[in-house]
Order: sequence, then structure tokens, then C-alpha cells
Amino acid sequence: MSEERLRIAIQKSGRLSDGCMELLKNCGLKISRGKDKLYGRVQEMPIDVLLLRDDDIAEFVADDACDIGIVGQNVFEEDLITQPREAPAEEVMTLGFARCRLMLAAPKDWAFNGAGMLEGKRIATSYPGLTKKWLEREGVSARVVMMKGSVEVAPRLTIADAICDIVSTGATLDANGLKPVATVFESEAVLIRNANPFSAARQAVFDALLKRIRGVMTSRDAKYVMMNAPRSAVPAITERLPGADAPTVLDLAGAPDKVAVHAVCRESVFWDTLEDLKALGASAILVLPIEKMMA
Ligand code: ATP
Ligand code: ZN
Repeated sequence: MSEERLRIAIQKSGRLSDGCMELLKNCGLKISRGKDKLYGRVQEMPIDVLLLRDDDIAEFVADDACDIGIVGQNVFEEDLITQPREAPAEEVMTLGFARCRLMLAAPKDWAFNGAGMLEGKRIATSYPGLTKKWLEREGVSARVVMMKGSVEVAPRLTIADAICDIVSTGATLDANGLKPVATVFESEAVLIRNANPFSAARQAVFDALLKRIRGVMTSRDAKYVMMNAPRSAVPAITERLPGADAPTVLDLAGAPDKVAVHAVCRESVFWDTLEDLKALGASAILVLPIEKMMA
């Protein structure tokens, strides 16, 4: 592969892949996949994409087989704890998707009253590193049993007393007679990079991509808000707009006491915001999506 192309590792298929594809698409990148579907090329920027199992991404990035990658923080942190490397990959930024929780779950009939209850117990998990770290923090000594999959059946099979696993709806736990009792780790997708400096050409591509990713992240919740309002209400309205810089205030023809207020709100605009604006005298309030934004 050429020195100029930036190599990014993403999950081939699974719970991270839609979010990754959407992020790259919103950055203006289209991936054309090769026949083997393990390798893709971006036309718009000098970027090569490797499609991997999520478990391999941290290693590929640390070993310089890829420059950057997108992976769940849970998998990345677990890798950092359990696979000591000379130069581990580094987290660049969180990406706000694939949010999930690593939770401790215990049999429903346990009257769980804190981590102390786990003293001397056996806990099954696919995340021994994160689980042990949490137990240490809680000052509890328990045995951690590594299981690659189907962790939730461990208590029924009496392999373990409790489990530590990724929980989304809790339905799987419920079906196995378990209930979530404590959050061990909160995760979302993260962008990671190789720890060594990139060549100048790759650094330039990385900087450009990062700028686009930041733009996508800030415009994700951002809205363009427009309204008419009494001139005297502008300070109170400005204060009520979530995450807005100074708004643009424009005269309205034939209405000297009224103005049009335009603002970019960087945080979610909810119905109660609109109701408050209305109560401050605003009318004809419009909330528009923002497609792209660059600071
Ligand atoms: P692979 O085949 O690549 O090894 P996998 O089966 O190990 O995939 P997935 O189930 O696709 O992994 O999950 C990938 C990542 O998505 C998880 O490590 C976690 O960061 C995140 N994730 C897991 N469950 C959820 C969920 N319910 N909602 C959102 N994100 C999740
Ligand atoms: Zn995996």
C-alpha cells in the first residue's frame, strides 16, 4: 500500500458497522469494496478501509497494519488491560454511537446490596480485564471465569454465581433468571490511532478526515433556528437557545419593534424550548436540520 494512503480498520459486520458506514458517508466518503469484501477503497480521499472482526481492530492498529480504527471502547479498553504491548494504540475521540453498558448481573433471587456480596464468588465474563479492574476498585476479591460467548447461561450451569456482560434491553438476562445489578463500564464507539507519528502525507489525510468527523459530530444534534420576536425579548431568547453563539438579529420591514432572530443551536432543540421561546414572545418559530458544518 502506498505511503500516502491512510489505512482505517472498521468492523466488517456487526453492531458497529452501520454506525461506521454512516459516519464515513456523512464525511463524504464512499467505500468501494473489493470482491473479498475485506478491503475497500475510498475514491474521494486517499483512504483504504480494512473490514475486520472487532476483536482484531485494536491489534491491527497497534501493530501498524492500520493507521487508525473504529472500535467499541469496551473492546479497546479490555485489549489495553489484557494484551500489554510496547506501543498500544491511542484513543483519539469518542464517536457517540454504539453506546452500550457492561453490567454485572446476578440471579433474580439475590437481594443484591452492593459489590461486597460478590466476595469469594465466581463471575463469568468475556471481559475479564474490565471486570477485575472494577472488582479491584470496589475492593472485592472474586474469581473471574473467562467465557467467549453465551455468558448468560453460566449461573444456570453452575459454572459461575454471577456474570458480567454487555446488556442492551435486559431481555436475555431476564430469560436466564438474571437481573442487572451494577454498571461496570459504559461504552461507545471510539476512534483509535497508531501511537507512532504518521508520514507527512498520511498526517495530512488524517487531519482532513478528523476535521470532517468533528464537523459531522457537531452538526449531528445541531439545528438552525429562526423566529420573529419583539426586539426587547432578544436577550432572554438568546439565553434560552441551547448551545447557540450570538444569534443574527435582522430588522423586519414595517415592524420597528420586531426582529427576526436566526441562530445555530449545537444541542438538541426540544419542544419545551419552543414553548419557552413562544412564552417570551417569539412567533413563526422554525427549526431546520443542518446538513454540514465546519468550524
Ligand atoms: P465480530 O464478529 O466483529 O467479532 P461481535 O459479535 O464480537 O462482532 P457485535 O455484537 O457486533 O460484536 O458488537 C460490536 C460492538 O458493538 C461491541 O463490542 C460494543 O461496543 C457494541 N455493542 C454491543 N452491543 C450493543 C448494543 N446492544 N447496542 C449498541 N452497541 C452495542
Ligand atoms: Zn467480536
